Amino acid sequence: MNRLEVLGWWFHEEAPDAYPRPQLLVSPCNEKERNDAVAYLRAGHTVVAYEASSHCRFACGEPDMGHRDLTDGTFVWPDGLAHYVEHHDVRLPSHFVAHVHARGAKVAPFELPAPRRGLFDKAPWLAWSRAQGACLDLTGWEIPTPEDARSIARELPAVAYEAIVLCRGDTREVVLRLAAGSLVVHQLRPDGHVPRRLAGWHDWPIAT
Ligand SMILES: [Zn+2]
Repeated sequence: MNRLEVLGWWFHEEAPDAYPRPQLLVSPCNEKERNDAVAYLRAGHTVVAYEASSHCRFACGEPDMGHRDLTDGTFVWPDGLAHYVEHHDVRLPSHFVAHVHARGAKVAPFELPAPRRGLFDKAPWLAWSRAQGACLDLTGWEIPTPEDARSIARELPAVAYEAIVLCRGDTREVVLRLAAGSLVVHQLRPDGHVPRRLAGWHDWPIAT
């Protein structure tokens, strides 16, 4: 069974994961290649529609980032991906650029696959974006379960935070999101430990 190769799935600030941050994929590109990619991405056919719409990770104020996944029968991407390429110079894998070029930037007729488990293959996208240095190193970190979060909250010193976003058992550290998106890494029962403050996820180490 053919699978669809994922493009343009991004890091979630509220639930940090292995997906890339598009801010780390910005690079100037050839104008024709960019226009062709944008036209091609806009011409995909809807394979799944979601209720919630997406938002631009550059917080540029674009009101409509779409709520569908589009496909050409080979790749699958969110309909907001064209916006990242067009307005933020986000680059895409060269084998996709070559795929678009080989088709004259036009989506050829294809049979729309029925949504099914395992239809989307995200492994190539994860491997490519990690090789581009666009993913964060979250080794050892986990998203706390609601029970974990409740037990961590009881142990935390009196600090104001919006959410407990990550935790790790080996070092007993937790990442808290503060107001305005800044982060702080706290060690539970600190014994003189000084919390590490980060202005945001852009300060987090990159996966290599
Ligand atoms: Zn934007």
